Amino acid sequence: AGLPGRIHQVADSYVAEFPDRMALIEDGASWTYRELDRRVTEIATVLALLGIRASDRMIIVSENCIALAGLLLAASRLDAWAIVANPRLSARELDQIRDHSGARRMFFACGVSKEAAAHASRYGAEIRQLGPLAEIGVSALNESATAEPVEADPAKQVAVLIYTSGTTGTPKGVMLTHENLLISAKTTAHFRRMDADDKVYIVLPISHIVGISLLIMTLMVGATARLVSKYDPAALAKAIAEERVTILNGVPATYQRLLEYKTVAGLKQFDRGSLRLIAVAGAPLDLDLKSRVEREFGLSLSNGYGITECSPGISGVRFDAPRNDQAVGTLLPGIEARIKTVDGKPAPNGQVGELHVRGRNVMRGYYRAPELTAKVIDADGWFNTGDLARFEGDCLYIVGRTKEMIIRSGFNVYPAEVEAVLNSHEDVVQSAVVGRSINGNEEVVAFVQLMQGSPVQAADLMAFINPQLTSYKRPSEIIVLDTLPATSTGKILKHKLAESLQGA
Ligand code: ATP
Repeated sequence: AGLPGRIHQVADSYVAEFPDRMALIEDGASWTYRELDRRVTEIATVLALLGIRASDRMIIVSENCIALAGLLLAASRLDAWAIVANPRLSARELDQIRDHSGARRMFFACGVSKEAAAHASRYGAEIRQLGPLAEIGVSALNESATAEPVEADPAKQVAVLIYTSGTTGTPKGVMLTHENLLISAKTTAHFRRMDADDKVYIVLPISHIVGISLLIMTLMVGATARLVSKYDPAALAKAIAEERVTILNGVPATYQRLLEYKTVAGLKQFDRGSLRLIAVAGAPLDLDLKSRVEREFGLSLSNGYGITECSPGISGVRFDAPRNDQAVGTLLPGIEARIKTVDGKPAPNGQVGELHVRGRNVMRGYYRAPELTAKVIDADGWFNTGDLARFEGDCLYIVGRTKEMIIRSGFNVYPAEVEAVLNSHEDVVQSAVVGRSINGNEEVVAFVQLMQGSPVQAADLMAFINPQLTSYKRPSEIIVLDTLPATSTGKILKHKLAESLQGA
């Protein structure tokens, strides 16, 4: 079947086919496919009355909930660009998004946190009823917002603008079109053999590409999205056992915390219930974590690699792939890839280089940053992921990020390799390896978070890893911290750690 034109149309056929099936569920409320269709239309009508027009940017500050999904799909009906922002963003970060996007309005859907309430009052939000949605905060931002051109082909219209976690500090707004999101969701849903009987646990924030993509793929196959506003391992374990969840998607930290919860709660085993697929993406997966999760659930933990700019899926591991391998799988259908050496030449199979990809999932560009876009997408449509990778046969391995590579006395050190060795120590929860410049040379420095109450010291860790690493890869210092700074999806903010070394 062909693709629907726009993201709110994904569920159209199910409204006629099985109107009473559940589309969205949150704690204490749910919408069937019929309700979804009717309510999204109602919300879109109110948004239009509030002045939202095609190509307007609108910001939705929200945790995962039905209201957020409703606003997102209603924005699509109006051909507006939706920006979903996590309520946990700081005031400075949210201001940056407001200023950079030139959004007309900001909506506060759900998120009872102090942060969300503070944001809403700072922007003078008025509480309104938007069609079926009660108590939505609405702020007027910019009545004279610049109109962006409206595409003649609706599939080429920008559907969402996603501000990446910004390791560089300047906001990078990734423009993803309806076509980008739909092709990516369709490929991944097919790859996972998803169908209408699935119930998908969506705890990764919808403000992040993985969350949005999961929501779209779930509705695209007529399945049920179980929307979860806050990650709580106890609630997750309960939902898996009792709610007939079939698919769980997480970042490594999701699974790490689940295993910690099991230890704290003194559970013998998780009740796997109806779970059939556990997937992980977004950050390097530690092999030890992978095998512990697999032992717990008796399922293979399926790793996938993606990036916001690719909507996000690039590769995935098949269900039947060999266990205990660090590979991020094979390329998803429709995606071309090549590995280039530093001097821009094609790298032979097995050799590490920068990964470039091409396909209909590649973003339209960075909003209001054509030079930045031209730096990453060339005239033939090849996108430079900024990741170092290699192919073994057709299996892809991610080695690290180009900008995080440490060059020590002329030798390349890939932080992920050193982290993997550190993480294999049983008391290490997580680690992050960064470079420290000293007199024009770079040193390797490791930050480590230990299990609570662990007696292990930096010197013990040094003694543990040194025999496993060539001398130039060994950290000159290991710093133990209570926690490592992380994004809402659990990705370690390495630049913060690197900055903490400056002037230290
Ligand atoms: P910014 O680009 O602003 O730094 P970000 O890092 O959060 O933000 P994302 O698009 O969320 O951007 O993350 C994509 C990156 O995550 C990839 O480029 C890659 O380095 C890493 N990544 C994603 N999946 C995997 C995986 N399965 N294994 C290893 N690394 C991964």
